[in-house]
Amino acid sequence: MTAGYTEAVNKLIEELGKLPGIGPKTAERLAFHILKSQKPEALALAQAISDVKTKIKQCKICYNFAESDLCPICADTRRDKSRICVVEQPKDVIVLEKTGQCKWVYHVLGGHIAPLDGVEPKDLTIDKLIERVRAGGIKEIIMATNPNLVGDGTALYISSLLKSTGVKITRLARGLATGTTLEYASARMLSDAITARQPLE
Ligand SMILES: [Zn+2]
Repeated sequence: MTAGYTEAVNKLIEELGKLPGIGPKTAERLAFHILKSQKPEALALAQAISDVKTKIKQCKICYNFAESDLCPICADTRRDKSRICVVEQPKDVIVLEKTGQCKWVYHVLGGHIAPLDGVEPKDLTIDKLIERVRAGGIKEIIMATNPNLVGDGTALYISSLLKSTGVKITRLARGLATGTTLEYASARMLSDAITARQPLE
C-alpha cells in the first residue's frame, strides 16, 4: 500500500503486480496508463478479462479451450479428423498451429503424468483419448507431449494403452532439444519436428 494513492489505485497496482513478469514499477506504470486512458478502452480490458473467465470452457471432444461445445478446430470441417495430435496444454495447440502445417485435430491431456507431484493418469483426459480412438476412424496419433522426462513418459504410457487398437502412433522428431517444452520452441524447429515425425516405439 503506497500512501498518496487512493484505495482503488492501490488495488489496481496490487492486482497487476500479480501477473507474471510484472514487477512493482511496471504495475504502477500500467495502472497509470489505465487511469489516463479513455473510459471505453479501460472497460474493454476489464470486460475481456471477465469474458475469458466466464465464457471459456473445455471442448467436448478435445478438451482445448472453447466458447461453445466444440473448439474452432474440432468444429472445422476441413480438418483431418483421422489424425489426432496429443498435447499437454492448450498453449501447445497454439504454438503448433502457428507453424501453419497442422491439418489434424488435437487432444489436450491437461498436463503430464507425474506421480511425485500427485498427477496420475486418471487426472488427465487419457481415458477420453482412448475412447476417441476406440470409436474408430483414426489413422494416426501424433504424440506432441514435451520432449522431457515426464512428457516422454506420458507418451509411452498412452502408446502402451493404444497398442491393441493397431492405430499408427508417431512422435514429433527430435529436432526439438530434449528437455525443452513446446512453448519455447521456434516455429521453424517445430515445423521440422512435425514433418519428420517418427513412429513411437
Ligand atoms: Zn476441440
